Amino acid sequence: MSEGTVYLVGSGPGDPELLTVKAQRLLEEADVILHDKLPGPDILEEIPETKREDVGKRAHGKGTSQQYINDRLVELAQEGKNVVRLKGGDSMMFGRGGEEMVYLADHGVDFEVVPAVTSAIAGPEVAGIPVTHRDHASSVTFVTGHEDPTKEESAVDWGALAASGGTIVVLMGVTRLPEYTEALMAAEMDPETPVALVERATWEAQKVATGTLETIVEARDTVGIEPPALTVIGGVASTRERVVDFLQNEPNR
Ligand code: SAH
Repeated sequence: MSEGTVYLVGSGPGDPELLTVKAQRLLEEADVILHDKLPGPDILEEIPETKREDVGKRAHGKGTSQQYINDRLVELAQEGKNVVRLKGGDSMMFGRGGEEMVYLADHGVDFEVVPAVTSAIAGPEVAGIPVTHRDHASSVTFVTGHEDPTKEESAVDWGALAASGGTIVVLMGVTRLPEYTEALMAAEMDPETPVALVERATWEAQKVATGTLETIVEARDTVGIEPPALTVIGGVASTRERVVDFLQNEPNR
């Protein structure tokens, strides 16, 4: 058994006030904090340099391998350190928290998971879009947009999602937006279906673009949406236009 404990902590989408009270305390108490870039500048700036280890993986470039991160967590715990593994949003939502949890258990390391506000719900929400709404959707699917939908072996069944009638929230889906909007329309989803993109939700640099399945690629390019951003597909996305004039979540608008 190791002496130290690893805390798998979600930071929330980026606004420091959306850190949980527990996350805040653990950040203060930690000996070492392993993080990537997703918690955002406002949260990362608050962490003393001496406690931080940046293990960010860049989407298309070379970054720190997951194996290195896993081993580093075990090593630090075995040295008796209190370690926070800080991730954007909630660490179990496309955050590899599950892999790290299993690795720690396999290596006899004590750990605690600290749930957080996921960008997958908070991102749409701060743009005036509820992921469910009785008039529009009674289900919601969170899906990765990272895979190529034209590949035979794509793990995401866009046809089934189109048929579900529920809200679709795509994470990691800025680059492949043309491919999966096309796949949804090919599966008979109405081209007029409302779509919104929310970039850097709750950060100073938050940006939103809106359109339909047919027009959202153009809107993405006009507004200049870049990762990290969420795509919200479904009737719920139309809620934004009804509330946006009173919505105080967008300081730069
Ligand atoms: N664990 C994270 C998601 C990690 S996957 C969570 O629960 O939020 C990385 C993807 O999350 C990004 O490509 C983007 O789609 C989304 N994302 C994370 N933080 C975001 C933010 N502040 N604004 C918009 N999208 C965000």
